[in-house]
Amino acid sequence: MNIDFSKSAHGLLPAIIQDSQTKAVLMLGYMNAEAYQKTIDTQKVTFFSRSKQRLWTKGEESGNFLNLVDIKNDCDGDTLLIQAQPVGPTCHTGADTCWQTQNKADYGFISDLEQTIQTRRENADSEKSYVASLFQLGINKIAQKVGEEAVEVVIEAKDDNDDLFLSESADLLFHYLILLQAKGFTLEDVVTVLKSRQK
Ligand code: AMP
Ligand code: ZN
Ligand code: ZN
Ligand code: ZN
Repeated sequence: MNIDFSKSAHGLLPAIIQDSQTKAVLMLGYMNAEAYQKTIDTQKVTFFSRSKQRLWTKGEESGNFLNLVDIKNDCDGDTLLIQAQPVGPTCHTGADTCWQTQNKADYGFISDLEQTIQTRRENADSEKSYVASLFQLGINKIAQKVGEEAVEVVIEAKDDNDDLFLSESADLLFHYLILLQAKGFTLEDVVTVLKSRQK
């Protein structure tokens, strides 16, 4: 890859650091040509620190290095996207990321739904919340509900009514997420098993 650092201000390019596994954005730093080369040579993400005015290998004091996985330049060659594996928390505050977010996989809407289910379970009263009422029924009843929804999916799969098939699929997924939580697990636990099966 040929990157022209001289075209950018002060020879510095912004480098977005992303966890190669969870895809969380961990921090943003700046690299000059030297920092870029040192990153490649040492496989540890190294910036040019504007406050220190010198090369700065992230983790040099704390040990919380960012082990290099991949570097990409953007469409017009002025921003780096760096995938890395963090050894510890990336922010000097001790937080996982510099935006004080947790470094965990985000499955988009499904993760939001998992969060909503957890909040309902903890706070809502079972008179008003269907989710809370399910948790009150206990694991056996929830598991039975998942079984019923699975059967409904099977029935609709044999028909050619797409709307009903999708609707029952949504029911199944929703109730399955509730069963997972009732058992004390998250979707991430299941994904870990799936990943371990990949060749
Ligand atoms: P470290 O590179 O983790 O050994 O930290 C050394 C010093 O770099 C810290 O004391 C902070 O001043 C600074 N620092 C560490 N991590 C970050 C970060 N994510 N963003 C900005 N500055 C940082
Ligand atoms: Zn660009
Ligand atoms: Zn920070
Ligand atoms: Zn259903």
